[in-house]
Amino acid sequence: MSILTIEKLTVAYGDGAPVLDGLELEVPDGGVVALLGANGAGKTTLLRALMGLVPVRSGRVLLDCADLTRLSTEDRVRRGLALVPEGRSVVVELTVAENLRLGALWKTGRKHRGPARDAAVGQMYELFEPLARRRDAAGHTLSGGERQMLALARALVGEPDVLLLDEPSLGLAPLVVAQLLGVLRDQAEATGLTVLLAEQNVTGALSVADRGVVLSLGEVVADRPAAELAADPALRHAYLGF
Ligand code: ATP
Repeated sequence: MSILTIEKLTVAYGDGAPVLDGLELEVPDGGVVALLGANGAGKTTLLRALMGLVPVRSGRVLLDCADLTRLSTEDRVRRGLALVPEGRSVVVELTVAENLRLGALWKTGRKHRGPARDAAVGQMYELFEPLARRRDAAGHTLSGGERQMLALARALVGEPDVLLLDEPSLGLAPLVVAQLLGVLRDQAEATGLTVLLAEQNVTGALSVADRGVVLSLGEVVADRPAAELAADPALRHAYLGF
């Protein structure tokens, strides 16, 4: 059963040639899908198109069978999509705790105010120990790894159904990468979260993913179980450059 269906999606910047060209993809409900491809393959563009952040020339995006293609980014977030963009975007003037509370802000209803919200934030401190120790520290004093943890935790506080992650491991130490990817894997298993993980770190991404999807020239050229993809040197060589 798919949670996200992408039908013949074509995206271009301005009058340029399409960056995504009739892309078709089914993302299964629950688990981690690694989105792979060389530099410029269109991974970021796909994630941004799913959020409504770049205009779609044609095609459709369905979440749980509902057509999102014409919805605003805000409405997509309300329906359960979240994006952690490349670059560890946190509000650097605010503390860790304040950033986490922000993550719950857009949600409506009692569940995301007062004690329930504090419990959700507390859960993030359990998942990301370094954040617990630095809860009163301002964003700008955090290390790169801590910032990436905070960006991820802030998205998780909003309890999305589908989390889109753009290159979370970029520039981080291997130990921090392992910790971050491990949390994603665990969350997907424990909560049924679906993660679409765009990564240049092919080995790391495939080690926590259930499936691997390879983009090339704006199309899906492989969509296979992660272990199978990791064990296919010809495919790795052809599309992933190693
Ligand atoms: P990377 O891993 O380098 O981020 P990517 O797979 O995420 O690559 P995209 O960033 O989606 O790829 O870029 C795909 C193509 O679209 C590239 O050729 C890029 O130059 C082009 N592109 C991306 N953003 C824009 C933009 N705002 N305006 C024009 N062209 C763009």
